[in-house]
Amino acid sequence: MSLRTLESLGDLNGQVAGVRLDLNVPLDGTTITDDGRIHAALPTLRELAAQGAKIVAMSHLGRPDGTVDPQYSLKPVAARLGELWEGAVTSVESHSGDEVSSEAERMNPGDILILGNLRFDSRETSKDAAERAEFAAEIASVCDVVVSDGFGVVHRAQASVVELEAARPSAAGRLIEKEVGVLSQLTGEPERPYTVVLGGSKVSDKLGVIEALLPHVDNLVIGGGMVFTVLQAQGFQTGSSLLEKDQIDTVKGYLAKAQEAGVTIHVPVDIVMASGFAPDAEHEVLPVEALESGRFGSQAMGLDIGPASAEAFAQVVRSSKTVFWNGPMGVFEFDAFAAGTRAVAGALTEVDGLSVVGGGDSAAAVRLLGFDDEQFGHISTGGGASLEFLEGRALPGLEAVGW
Ligand code: ATP
Repeated sequence: MSLRTLESLGDLNGQVAGVRLDLNVPLDGTTITDDGRIHAALPTLRELAAQGAKIVAMSHLGRPDGTVDPQYSLKPVAARLGELWEGAVTSVESHSGDEVSSEAERMNPGDILILGNLRFDSRETSKDAAERAEFAAEIASVCDVVVSDGFGVVHRAQASVVELEAARPSAAGRLIEKEVGVLSQLTGEPERPYTVVLGGSKVSDKLGVIEALLPHVDNLVIGGGMVFTVLQAQGFQTGSSLLEKDQIDTVKGYLAKAQEAGVTIHVPVDIVMASGFAPDAEHEVLPVEALESGRFGSQAMGLDIGPASAEAFAQVVRSSKTVFWNGPMGVFEFDAFAAGTRAVAGALTEVDGLSVVGGGDSAAAVRLLGFDDEQFGHISTGGGASLEFLEGRALPGLEAVGW
């Protein structure tokens, strides 16, 4: 079980390298609001260019659901990459065929051609392996070798993540190598206390993670949109906050297991309750015992952890030796509800040990709130992927390159 790295591909001079990246950046119209994933792709691209390879790069962007939708074009990404890249960067909206092969023919070593959004073709995410293999073979037709470096998608069994790697000699790029290196430190023998902080909005995705993490961690800190399901499991009312009612019983089970395993689960003692989901919504801080007793009654929505919780969470984080954080503590995109996320991010920068930020939104949050990447031990480019790695699940995109 070890990753095939770039060295395994041999001499790449003059070869066409198909490179699966995760360039799924947040966009406001056509403006990229956080280009972290583009920067994260550069080390592998530079190494391939230095070897004289022609680069055919590919990625998904958003969820266009199998149709060509200009709103999800990778053109803004190509433009940004062009500013950072020494050679030529061109882009097409297709994945194979004459347009792609004649571009690949014309390219000089070190140039980059970006294919169309992979999810413009429904075969990319098809449940049918034969359809995925067919799509992968079409992409592979212009490639001599394949490099897999989209860490954010390695937990998905998709054509460009699995079947493409099987169609040509393939290896993991430097980003995947680095991600796996750091995350392996967390699944090995992390220095203790080991704390995992979970937040964000993908409630059902993340609740399941709790159970998998219980045997490994000392502290589990829970905030963000997912916390309200936990609070309801503990018997609190949560107004109109995000909730997955059908998960409440499951969560009760996790809480009991945590107690048996000696894991401390930290939930907020206070919440910022707002009149609605808006940047300028009126709001007030309420104790968890009385979230429906305020001005907005049962209509109130919890959009951030309160100041007492933020301080308590920061304290747990600061006094840990290993911390993994996935998911913002509140709706950090709205300034009025960013304080909890800011407090936890700040505490992470003070950890005397290894601090890892996992997830596109968490990474975007730390940058938006003015922190530097260097203040953290590692910022992972994959939210779901890093969580599944920590859970110890088999990840198809890593298995495809030897892991
Ligand atoms: P990814 O999995 O894409 O890498 P992530 O794991 O970092 O991202 P998500 O689960 O996508 O994070 O959650 C991020 C979103 O959660 C943010 O847009 C934030 O506004 C939202 N969020 C946080 N707290 C709340 C809340 N209390 N109510 C509603 N939404 C919330």
